[in-house]
Amino acid sequence: MVTSQLEVRSIRDPLVLAAMRRVPRHAFVGTEHMDEAYADSPLPIGEEQTISQPYIVALMTEMLGLRAELRVLEIGTGSGYQAAVLAEIVREVFTVEARVALLDNARRCLGGRGYRNLRFRHGNGWEGWSEFAPFDRIIVTACAGRVPPRLVEQLSPDGVMVLPLAKDAGKQVLCRVTRIGTLGMDIQDGIPVRFVPMISEGGAEE
Ligand code: SAH
Repeated sequence: MVTSQLEVRSIRDPLVLAAMRRVPRHAFVGTEHMDEAYADSPLPIGEEQTISQPYIVALMTEMLGLRAELRVLEIGTGSGYQAAVLAEIVREVFTVEARVALLDNARRCLGGRGYRNLRFRHGNGWEGWSEFAPFDRIIVTACAGRVPPRLVEQLSPDGVMVLPLAKDAGKQVLCRVTRIGTLGMDIQDGIPVRFVPMISEGGAEE
Protein backbone atom coordinates (compact mmCIF):
# COMPACT_ATOMS: atom_id res chain seq x y z
CA MET A 1 0.00 0.00 0.00
CA VAL A 2 2.71 2.48 1.01
CA THR A 3 4.80 1.84 -2.10
CA SER A 4 2.06 1.45 -4.69
CA GLN A 5 -0.43 4.06 -3.44
CA LEU A 6 1.53 6.65 -1.45
CA GLU A 7 5.09 6.87 -2.73
CA VAL A 8 4.00 6.85 -6.38
CA ARG A 9 1.68 9.78 -5.62
CA SER A 10 4.53 11.80 -4.12
CA ILE A 11 3.96 11.33 -0.39
CA ARG A 12 7.51 11.99 0.78
CA ASP A 13 7.46 12.71 4.53
CA PRO A 14 9.42 9.81 6.10
CA LEU A 15 7.44 10.14 9.35
CA VAL A 16 4.16 9.66 7.47
CA LEU A 17 5.42 6.75 5.38
CA ALA A 18 6.87 4.98 8.44
CA ALA A 19 3.68 5.48 10.47
CA MET A 20 1.52 4.11 7.66
CA ARG A 21 3.78 1.08 7.37
CA ARG A 22 3.34 0.40 11.09
CA VAL A 23 -0.45 0.82 11.57
CA PRO A 24 -2.39 -2.30 10.46
CA ARG A 25 -5.31 -0.83 8.55
CA HIS A 26 -7.19 -4.15 8.62
CA ALA A 27 -7.57 -3.78 12.42
CA PHE A 28 -9.77 -0.70 11.86
CA VAL A 29 -12.28 -2.04 9.33
CA GLY A 30 -15.06 -4.51 10.11
CA THR A 31 -14.58 -8.20 9.31
CA GLU A 32 -16.81 -7.83 6.23
CA HIS A 33 -14.29 -5.42 4.66
CA MET A 34 -11.11 -7.08 5.92
CA ASP A 35 -10.03 -8.26 2.46
CA GLU A 36 -10.35 -4.72 1.07
CA ALA A 37 -8.54 -3.05 3.97
CA TYR A 38 -5.49 -2.07 1.87
CA ALA A 39 -7.44 -1.18 -1.29
CA ASP A 40 -7.01 2.24 -2.90
CA SER A 41 -10.43 3.46 -1.75
CA PRO A 42 -12.50 4.62 1.22
CA LEU A 43 -14.47 1.93 3.11
CA PRO A 44 -17.68 1.94 5.16
CA ILE A 45 -17.20 1.83 8.95
CA GLY A 46 -20.88 1.78 9.99
CA GLU A 47 -23.34 4.60 10.79
CA GLU A 48 -23.03 5.68 7.12
CA GLN A 49 -19.49 6.90 7.77
CA THR A 50 -16.26 5.99 5.98
CA ILE A 51 -12.56 5.51 6.67
CA SER A 52 -10.70 7.63 4.08
CA GLN A 53 -8.69 6.19 1.22
CA PRO A 54 -5.08 5.54 2.41
CA TYR A 55 -3.71 8.24 0.09
CA ILE A 56 -6.01 10.89 1.59
CA VAL A 57 -4.99 9.89 5.14
CA ALA A 58 -1.33 10.17 4.09
CA LEU A 59 -1.81 13.46 2.25
CA MET A 60 -3.66 15.14 5.14
CA THR A 61 -1.06 13.88 7.61
CA GLU A 62 1.76 15.19 5.40
CA MET A 63 -0.01 18.56 4.96
CA LEU A 64 0.02 18.97 8.76
CA GLY A 65 3.83 19.10 8.73
CA LEU A 66 4.26 16.99 11.87
CA ARG A 67 7.17 16.71 14.27
CA ALA A 68 7.49 14.41 17.28
CA GLU A 69 7.07 17.13 19.88
CA LEU A 70 3.70 18.44 18.64
CA ARG A 71 0.17 18.08 20.07
CA VAL A 72 -2.62 17.35 17.61
CA LEU A 73 -6.43 17.57 17.79
CA GLU A 74 -8.48 15.38 15.45
CA ILE A 75 -12.18 15.98 14.80
CA GLY A 76 -13.99 12.84 13.60
CA THR A 77 -12.40 9.77 15.22
CA GLY A 78 -14.43 7.37 13.06
CA SER A 79 -12.59 4.05 12.93
CA GLY A 80 -9.59 5.42 14.84
CA TYR A 81 -7.20 4.73 11.94
CA GLN A 82 -6.15 8.35 11.36
CA ALA A 83 -5.75 8.79 15.13
CA ALA A 84 -3.40 5.79 15.21
CA VAL A 85 -1.31 7.21 12.35
CA LEU A 86 -1.04 10.51 14.24
CA ALA A 87 -0.23 8.78 17.54
CA GLU A 88 2.69 7.00 15.86
CA ILE A 89 4.23 10.35 15.00
CA VAL A 90 3.47 13.01 17.63
CA ARG A 91 3.65 13.47 21.39
CA GLU A 92 -0.08 13.77 22.11
CA VAL A 93 -3.27 13.17 20.12
CA PHE A 94 -6.72 14.34 21.19
CA THR A 95 -9.62 12.98 19.16
CA VAL A 96 -13.29 14.01 19.25
CA GLU A 97 -16.18 11.99 17.82
CA ALA A 98 -19.89 12.88 17.77
CA ARG A 99 -21.24 9.34 17.29
CA VAL A 100 -20.85 7.30 20.45
CA ALA A 101 -21.08 3.90 18.71
CA LEU A 102 -18.10 4.79 16.50
CA LEU A 103 -16.16 6.22 19.43
CA ASP A 104 -16.66 3.01 21.45
CA ASN A 105 -15.52 0.94 18.50
CA ALA A 106 -12.43 3.12 17.93
CA ARG A 107 -11.54 2.89 21.62
CA ARG A 108 -11.74 -0.89 21.32
CA CYS A 109 -9.57 -1.01 18.19
CA LEU A 110 -7.01 1.39 19.62
CA GLY A 111 -7.14 0.18 23.22
CA GLY A 112 -5.18 -2.97 22.54
CA ARG A 113 -2.48 -1.16 20.60
CA GLY A 114 -0.89 0.43 23.65
CA TYR A 115 -0.96 4.11 22.66
CA ARG A 116 -0.41 6.09 25.84
CA ASN A 117 -0.50 9.42 24.01
CA LEU A 118 -4.11 9.28 22.82
CA ARG A 119 -7.24 10.74 24.45
CA PHE A 120 -10.84 10.41 23.30
CA ARG A 121 -13.86 12.62 23.76
CA HIS A 122 -17.51 12.26 22.82
CA GLY A 123 -18.79 15.62 21.60
CA ASN A 124 -19.49 17.95 18.71
CA GLY A 125 -16.20 18.86 17.04
CA TRP A 126 -17.34 22.44 16.38
CA GLU A 127 -16.49 23.03 20.04
CA GLY A 128 -12.99 21.55 19.80
CA TRP A 129 -11.54 20.53 23.17
CA SER A 130 -10.78 23.75 25.07
CA GLU A 131 -9.47 21.97 28.17
CA PHE A 132 -6.35 20.87 26.28
CA ALA A 133 -5.98 23.83 23.89
CA PRO A 134 -3.96 25.26 22.27
CA PHE A 135 -3.06 22.60 19.70
CA ASP A 136 -0.12 22.82 17.31
CA ARG A 137 -2.10 21.05 14.61
CA ILE A 138 -5.80 20.28 13.98
CA ILE A 139 -7.19 17.81 11.46
CA VAL A 140 -10.89 17.59 10.62
CA THR A 141 -12.03 14.44 8.81
CA ALA A 142 -15.63 15.45 8.00
CA CYS A 143 -16.67 18.30 5.72
CA ALA A 144 -18.07 21.64 6.90
CA GLY A 145 -19.08 24.74 4.92
CA ARG A 146 -16.69 27.01 6.78
CA VAL A 147 -13.72 26.82 9.10
CA PRO A 148 -15.11 26.18 12.62
CA PRO A 149 -14.22 29.38 14.55
CA ARG A 150 -13.70 27.60 17.88
CA LEU A 151 -11.06 25.43 16.23
CA VAL A 152 -9.17 28.47 14.95
CA GLU A 153 -9.23 29.85 18.49
CA GLN A 154 -7.77 26.59 19.79
CA LEU A 155 -4.90 26.59 17.29
CA SER A 156 -1.46 27.77 18.51
CA PRO A 157 0.01 30.89 16.91
CA ASP A 158 1.46 29.66 13.59
CA GLY A 159 -0.52 26.44 14.08
CA VAL A 160 -1.87 24.55 11.07
CA MET A 161 -5.29 23.00 10.46
CA VAL A 162 -6.11 20.65 7.57
CA LEU A 163 -9.75 20.11 6.66
CA PRO A 164 -12.14 19.56 3.75
CA LEU A 165 -14.37 22.57 3.04
CA ALA A 166 -17.52 22.60 0.91
CA LYS A 167 -17.34 25.35 -1.71
CA ASP A 168 -19.63 26.41 -4.55
CA ALA A 169 -22.15 23.77 -5.64
CA GLY A 170 -21.10 21.58 -2.73
CA LYS A 171 -17.72 20.81 -4.29
CA GLN A 172 -15.24 19.90 -1.57
CA VAL A 173 -11.65 21.07 -1.42
CA LEU A 174 -8.93 19.96 0.96
CA CYS A 175 -7.68 23.13 2.69
CA ARG A 176 -4.69 24.06 4.79
CA VAL A 177 -5.36 26.85 7.28
CA THR A 178 -2.50 28.64 9.01
CA ARG A 179 -3.23 30.75 12.05
CA ILE A 180 -1.67 34.18 11.85
CA GLY A 181 -1.32 36.09 15.11
CA THR A 182 -4.37 36.21 17.36
CA LEU A 183 -7.14 36.83 14.84
CA GLY A 184 -5.98 36.10 11.34
CA MET A 185 -5.82 33.01 9.21
CA ASP A 186 -4.53 32.13 5.78
CA ILE A 187 -6.38 29.46 3.76
CA GLN A 188 -4.73 27.55 0.93
CA ASP A 189 -6.83 25.33 -1.31
CA GLY A 190 -5.63 21.88 -2.29
CA ILE A 191 -7.12 18.99 -4.23
CA PRO A 192 -10.84 18.15 -4.65
CA VAL A 193 -12.02 15.52 -2.15
CA ARG A 194 -15.20 13.75 -0.97
CA PHE A 195 -15.82 13.50 2.76
CA VAL A 196 -18.93 12.76 4.79
CA PRO A 197 -20.63 15.95 6.02
CA MET A 198 -19.74 17.27 9.45
CA ILE A 199 -22.64 17.28 11.94
CA SER A 200 -23.63 20.94 12.14
CA GLU A 201 -22.65 23.45 14.75
CA GLY A 202 -25.00 22.89 17.69
CA GLY A 203 -26.21 19.66 16.01
CA ALA A 204 -27.00 16.68 18.22
CA GLU A 205 -24.40 14.10 19.01
CA GLU A 206 -25.54 10.53 18.55
N1 SAH B 1 -10.76 9.87 10.76
C1 SAH B 1 -11.68 8.80 10.54
C2 SAH B 1 -12.62 9.07 9.38
C3 SAH B 1 -13.90 9.39 9.94
S1 SAH B 1 -15.28 9.74 8.92
C4 SAH B 1 -10.97 7.48 10.35
O1 SAH B 1 -9.74 7.44 10.32
O2 SAH B 1 -11.65 6.47 10.26
C5 SAH B 1 -15.81 11.22 9.72
C6 SAH B 1 -16.17 11.08 11.18
O3 SAH B 1 -16.51 12.36 11.65
C7 SAH B 1 -17.38 10.18 11.44
O4 SAH B 1 -17.02 9.22 12.38
C8 SAH B 1 -18.41 11.14 11.99
O5 SAH B 1 -19.27 10.56 12.95
C9 SAH B 1 -17.55 12.24 12.59
N2 SAH B 1 -18.21 13.54 12.72
C10 SAH B 1 -19.04 14.14 11.84
N3 SAH B 1 -19.41 15.35 12.29
C11 SAH B 1 -18.79 15.52 13.49
C12 SAH B 1 -18.79 16.57 14.46
N4 SAH B 1 -19.48 17.70 14.27
N5 SAH B 1 -18.05 16.39 15.56
C13 SAH B 1 -17.33 15.26 15.76
N6 SAH B 1 -17.29 14.24 14.89
C14 SAH B 1 -18.02 14.36 13.77
